[in-house]
Amino acid sequence: MRRCPLCSGELEEKTVTHPQEYKGRIIILENVPAEVCRQCGEVLLRPDVLERVQGLVWSESAPRRIAQVPVYDLAEVT
Ligand SMILES: [Zn+2]
Repeated sequence: MRRCPLCSGELEEKTVTHPQEYKGRIIILENVPAEVCRQCGEVLLRPDVLERVQGLVWSESAPRRIAQVPVYDLAEVT
């Protein structure tokens, strides 16, 4: 059983939705296999998964769909 590097909590195999910044835009990747900490929620991607994520992002291939993403600015919150 692998442990979380931040809090030593138990890691659980899950598929996650992973946001990735690329050329100033946010790209969302769905169904990414990851290890998620049960304690603090830290998401860890294995190096081979990270490589596949980067390969897909850099290929700039047509996305499955385009989603609208809400943007908030913390500086506007008083
Ligand atoms: Zn943790």
